[in-house]
Amino acid sequence: MSRKTMIAGNWKMNNTVAEARELVEGLKARASEIAGVDVVVCPPVTTLAYAAEQFAGTPVKVGAQNVHWAESGAYTGEVSASMLKEIPVEYVIIGHSERRQYFGETDGTVNQRVKAALAAGLTPIVCVGELLEQRETGETEAVVKTQVEVGLDGLTADDAAKIVVAYEPVWAIGTGLTASPEQAQEVHAFLRNLLRGLFGAVADGIRILYGGSMKPANAKDLLAQADIDGGLIGGASLKADDFMGIILSG
Ligand code: PEP
Repeated sequence: MSRKTMIAGNWKMNNTVAEARELVEGLKARASEIAGVDVVVCPPVTTLAYAAEQFAGTPVKVGAQNVHWAESGAYTGEVSASMLKEIPVEYVIIGHSERRQYFGETDGTVNQRVKAALAAGLTPIVCVGELLEQRETGETEAVVKTQVEVGLDGLTADDAAKIVVAYEPVWAIGTGLTASPEQAQEVHAFLRNLLRGLFGAVADGIRILYGGSMKPANAKDLLAQADIDGGLIGGASLKADDFMGIILSG
């Protein structure tokens, strides 16, 4: 089954309104070069609506970086799926390692967020990945297996067909260290098999993105791997030319 490449940019907690304007303008100016690749940018909440408005009618889609599972209520600092849909936003990153590391995100809360996103018609980009010490002790597969099994617990095959998975080895995020194409492919193939066991044939259509210091210089080799269907990009998504360089490698 052929899977359309997806390149998603995670701005994290970066870009003031003025900085976002410069980046959005830079991407819009080159949007006509985008062909055969799904492109998503995920700004912080302060510039989500601006980005959605600016990219409307272009090939660039917009995503959020987190979503709460409740419809509304006393959850200070959170946003609900229906609030994101209203903007309108189409994608949402869930379970990023920084959320897990610094904000107490667990596989259980990932699962609740994924279900809320799907119920609202948002496409979750579900992040998994091992820490350096887990890789060094040979636990990578066990770690991502639990993250997938618990994070996607209770989903039907139809639900699973709507998600995107991102494999992001934590040791490669923001460090300049990249998994080699072979290292990444090995885990992506493991994840594909795992998804096949859980959801059957739809696994062949689920996009599995690689994330971790992807940049124009290494994107092509990573994206050439059989089970690497795109990238989730942090640092290199903050400069229009770098992000476009990766998009054009897809
Ligand atoms: C990320 O935050 O998802 C990421 C992959 O970051 P970077 O590209 O900066 O490593």
